[in-house]
Amino acid sequence: MYSMTQKLFDENAYQAEFEATVVSQTQTELGWEVVLDKTCFFPEGGGQDSDAGTLNGQKVKKLVKTDDGDIIHVMQEKIEQSTIIGQIDWKKRFRNMQQHSGQHILSGVLLNTYKLQTESASFTEKEGHITLEWSIPDNDLEKALIAANEIIFANKPIITKFISLDEIEKYNLAKLPKDKFTKTGKIRIWQIEGFYTIPCGGTHCKSTGEIGNIFVKSNKIHGNRTDLNFTTGFVTLDYLTATKKITSELAKMLEVGTDGLVDATKKVMDDRHALNLALRENQEQVAAQKAVQILQTATKGKVTFTAFVYSEADKGTVKTTLYQLAETPNSVHIAHGANVPLTVVSSKDVSLDTLSILTELKTKFNGKGGGSKTYWQAMITDHEQFVKELMEKLS
Ligand SMILES: [Zn+2]
Repeated sequence: MYSMTQKLFDENAYQAEFEATVVSQTQTELGWEVVLDKTCFFPEGGGQDSDAGTLNGQKVKKLVKTDDGDIIHVMQEKIEQSTIIGQIDWKKRFRNMQQHSGQHILSGVLLNTYKLQTESASFTEKEGHITLEWSIPDNDLEKALIAANEIIFANKPIITKFISLDEIEKYNLAKLPKDKFTKTGKIRIWQIEGFYTIPCGGTHCKSTGEIGNIFVKSNKIHGNRTDLNFTTGFVTLDYLTATKKITSELAKMLEVGTDGLVDATKKVMDDRHALNLALRENQEQVAAQKAVQILQTATKGKVTFTAFVYSEADKGTVKTTLYQLAETPNSVHIAHGANVPLTVVSSKDVSLDTLSILTELKTKFNGKGGGSKTYWQAMITDHEQFVKELMEKLS
């Protein structure tokens, strides 16, 4: 028998508890799919996150809206009774109501004052998102936010009701409903008289004052579009509380008040930059000194060559040492060690075809890597034997 679930949230968004009769119950891969004669549970839709809550104390896993207008409550366990007591998570619902109503107000201001259509909007109990069809300068956005908050503080009544399709023209809707919502011959509207009217089936506050506030915490322009992340009411409070925790921790670490955070952070960054420069200069000096020492051990064979062992800790300076050494005419220099790449740097004028020699040895030693005649690097497990054989070829 065809029956459409009576949606109690359409009539009263503030009802959090209800009694209903189980109409059907089927086991599927999702769990037990329960249809009731009526429900307070709002399924996901129009950008609004779904409700959470329980049926007879058992948590509702998921809500699904069918094309026929039924709402399926997906449960883990079968419901044994023929009637249930349903309870929605009011904290989540009210945040959704604030987010949803606040979004309509900001979208209304952006359309009325700046002729900017909202392309899409979505919201959870943590964050709301609006995509605008065009970009908006920061100072206009700030003005729009003040205007939206003024409407909130004016505590205007919010009207949500069903109207027949014939009445659409009379209500001067800012946006027309999608076809699938008109098949029942009526649509639900959200309206602040004299401000903005749109079709919407979500759950909303009954007056603007209940929204508390609306705040844009970030805005980004992507091509022609603007993405706004917004918060309202309790969600703004959650956001400010979390932000305060972060700024307080940072201020404590930097030993300043929160007002001094930007200056203190800038100083840390400047200091870091100066230290990095000093460190680099120091590393270069160390590398140059090391090159002078190593050069004293050089062997003169077919070319002048040196070899030295290095470790992970010397990684920052080894290249500089090698390049310094390679300034010696007709020379080859080898740096090697356990679990570090075996690196060979030759002077530009080197008379041997070092690339061929190294490639041949690499194949023999099953190494991984490569390079050019003047710079070559490979991982070689038996690096000591490799270097011994390489040195024989250079002698
Ligand atoms: Zn809405």
